[in-house]
Amino acid sequence: MRGLMMEMPLLVSDLIRHADRHHRDTPIVSRRVEGDLHRYTYHDAHERSRRAANALGKLGLQPGDRVATLAWNGYRHFEIYYAVAGSGMVMHTVNPRLFPEQIAWILNDAKDKVLFLDLTFLPLVQKILPLCKHLKHLVLMTDRAHMPAGAEGLLCYEDLLAAETDAFEWPALDENTACGLCYTSGTTGNPKGALYSHRSTVLHAYAICLPDAMCLSASDSALPVVPMFHANAWGLPFAAPLVGAKLVFPGAALDGKSLHALFESERVSFSAGVPTVWGGLIQYMRENRVRLTTLKRTIIGGAPCPPAMIRALEDEFGIEVNHAWGMTEMSPLGSVCKLKEKHLSLPPEERRAIREKQGRVVFGVDWKIVDSEGRDLPWDGKAFGDLHVRGPWVVSGYYEAAQSPLIDGWFPTGDVATIDADGFLRITDRSKDVVKSGGEWISSIALENIAMAHPAVQEAAVIACRHPKWDERPLLIAVLKPGQQLAREELIAFYEGKVAKWWIPDDVVFAKELPHTATGKLMKTALREQYRDHPLPAATAASSGKVVA
Ligand code: ADP
Repeated sequence: MRGLMMEMPLLVSDLIRHADRHHRDTPIVSRRVEGDLHRYTYHDAHERSRRAANALGKLGLQPGDRVATLAWNGYRHFEIYYAVAGSGMVMHTVNPRLFPEQIAWILNDAKDKVLFLDLTFLPLVQKILPLCKHLKHLVLMTDRAHMPAGAEGLLCYEDLLAAETDAFEWPALDENTACGLCYTSGTTGNPKGALYSHRSTVLHAYAICLPDAMCLSASDSALPVVPMFHANAWGLPFAAPLVGAKLVFPGAALDGKSLHALFESERVSFSAGVPTVWGGLIQYMRENRVRLTTLKRTIIGGAPCPPAMIRALEDEFGIEVNHAWGMTEMSPLGSVCKLKEKHLSLPPEERRAIREKQGRVVFGVDWKIVDSEGRDLPWDGKAFGDLHVRGPWVVSGYYEAAQSPLIDGWFPTGDVATIDADGFLRITDRSKDVVKSGGEWISSIALENIAMAHPAVQEAAVIACRHPKWDERPLLIAVLKPGQQLAREELIAFYEGKVAKWWIPDDVVFAKELPHTATGKLMKTALREQYRDHPLPAATAASSGKVVA
């Protein structure tokens, strides 16, 4: 049929080209590893990413080659994103918080040829280098003046750029060309690679800007606390140029004090990060009696956001919290929690109860919950089952893996969830974290949220503990706030009336801290290993005295 729309591929390079043409002087501000604040514009970023693309060519890289980074959120990392993806190579962001052997394993699996690294990670890279079989070049993301002793043989990023011009035409690629690679953290078995395409990345960037997703616009100053190595900072380095939002990169300083200073000096209006980061910020603001004067809203996800955290940020600090759910395999966004018009007239507590859920699906993704036989479960907010998803930015298989994980075209997320009649998702657990007591399932997340609503509790984890009669029973492991004291019985009594009696944890262990994964989530595998055979009450009745943190 004649007269159809233009056929133009969706390409990552068009995002930065657009930002340069239409948001030329919009700033990108970065806290550098070198310590100072760096400031330039989308125009400058576009110019330097083309120089970087020329440099990649000189290093002998070909379309399809994988290029790795071990880097914080910053402008050089941003330039490399576009230089690599825009010129048809695959941008592989590696999580530096993984174990060194795991990082080497991932670099080998991806057959990365070049590694760009921030100064911070030089000792780590020197340690694993003998294990990395495919790396041909290491590039330190700094200037000549900051090249450290011991970096002989490494290339200097600023030298590479200085030797090039910005005369580079982004190639007109097929939109289904691979542009990004991100490995899951591998909490079970070896990490697996999710391979993104130009098409999936651009569509995802559009979707996350929608009002009921991140609601990102040219009037925002956006600070992704979530690292660029954690599912591409949830897509923000692509979405911000798409709408022309100001970008603020925090570098390595993710503590409450440094973040607070940057939020204030750069008039940040929007941010996104995992719950642990917000925990640090809340603590800093409380202790120092300060507020965030420009921050209007934040996306919290990657792990369940405790209702007590939403309450603290909204009621004490006036910052709107939008709870979101996603995963590396979904680029990562699946859902964000924003109310529907009919909810606006509900009493505040009812509105709050809805907003504690993981939210509604973003167009492009569809989902269903199924039982163990794969049968659809009702959307009544009660029935829970395995959550399956599909959509143009959901993986169809893992990088270089022969077997597809899909079941009838749907990706099984490994999460257990309910969906209510209005389409709101509640994640009750990861399937491997569910407590199976006498054949019935208990949600560990629901029990953790209750513990964290206790004023003395800083953090809580619930795991399954072996039980002779019920197979598994819930054990609560709690970290108290500094200076607080609480008895085991008081914490157990706190559950009464809040959940069915048989859900109440059998015992409480007070710990100094809880282990976290490389992306800041509770590491339940480690806790299970440590406490799986913890003797339940009969054996511990004597040890129930007060505990002081
Ligand atoms: P990994 O944790 O394996 O590194 P991801 O970072 O991709 O991988 O994490 C995805 C998982 O994180 C989801 O499958 C889900 O279990 C959990 N998750 C993400 N967001 C939320 C949320 N808001 N509430 C509960 N769980 C979440």
